[in-house]
Amino acid sequence: MKEKHPECNPQAILRRVREGEPLADKEGLSLLELTDGVQIGALFETARTVRNKHFGNRIFLYGFVYTSTFCRNDCRFCFFRRSNTVSLRYRKTPEQIVEASSRLADSGVHLIDLTMGEDPKNFIDGRHGFDDLVSMVGKVKSATGLPIMVSPGVVPDDVLADLSSAGADWYACYQETHNPELFRNLRPGQSYRERLEKKHLAHRLGMLIEEGLLCGIGETNRDVAESIGVVRSIGADQMRVMNFVPQEGTPMADHIPADAVRELVITAVMRLAFPDRLIPASLDVGGLDGLQPWLDAGANVVTSLVPPGQGLAGVAQNSLDIEDARRTAESVQPVLSSCGLQVASPEEYVSWMNARRRAVRQDRETKVMAC
Ligand code: SF4
Repeated sequence: MKEKHPECNPQAILRRVREGEPLADKEGLSLLELTDGVQIGALFETARTVRNKHFGNRIFLYGFVYTSTFCRNDCRFCFFRRSNTVSLRYRKTPEQIVEASSRLADSGVHLIDLTMGEDPKNFIDGRHGFDDLVSMVGKVKSATGLPIMVSPGVVPDDVLADLSSAGADWYACYQETHNPELFRNLRPGQSYRERLEKKHLAHRLGMLIEEGLLCGIGETNRDVAESIGVVRSIGADQMRVMNFVPQEGTPMADHIPADAVRELVITAVMRLAFPDRLIPASLDVGGLDGLQPWLDAGANVVTSLVPPGQGLAGVAQNSLDIEDARRTAESVQPVLSSCGLQVASPEEYVSWMNARRRAVRQDRETKVMAC
């Protein structure tokens, strides 16, 4: 039988990637189109090999605190969209946030992820409307001493600078898709360009950035491949994909989600495209039971660890596994062990972050010189 062009032959692509060759965008598309179980298994195995080559058997853990579930936006897929009358609404006080963050820090996480909707309360007084948020980031930083990720949505430029000065190391802001029509449909009234620009600004401010995709929302494999190209062009330091989960009270409540394997295939292709970056396995989609497949597909961060007993919500799964303490650093240990993985030291995480910051700076300087 005539051999396909290497660009389209999955075995040849995987062999080349294992040998250290970068994954071309067209090759990524070929891998996204795999349907054969054996070939998908080989993709996952290669993703693990590539991850282990860059990170050994080390895994990073992120604690998650959803600080406010109020939002001025009306994203069609989101439980916390403005017009959803059935969603749980709360605003945690700085004391509650510091307490939850300290509990997470004590449990051994490497980073505190402070997530929130675009709370209308913050957007009423320009820069000063965010004073409480900026101050809260500083308090969490001094209480825990840990790196901090913030996901405040599209905030004014000077607020992003204030958050960085207060101690935020990461800025997470997900496009969900890079298909303009899908974006307009998922995030009505929001600007694709502005969202993307905030991530560039965060990089210029010295923060690291996370980009996120949703899958099962009507995207094609070509859309995903193009999204991976955009993730590359913005130099994201961490990238994740999550399966869409239908949410009660939203226009997409009856939308049928994709097969669970789709997010795993995309995760594995991301790992091959970005061997030295962070790729999360989130407890927010399949809970603890869904963790191992994600690690098997090449993820190297466990996110959405939530302390029980604090009345905190998740995002895609607003309550799954939280109050029965199955989203804790302790509860994920047996899963990590069964995959031959172990929790990294705090120093290893900080060292990765520092090296990545240097790489981002050098990349920017090279681009400036080229201009
Ligand atoms: S996805 Fe974020 S911005 Fe959109 S409605 Fe939900 S919380 Fe708000």
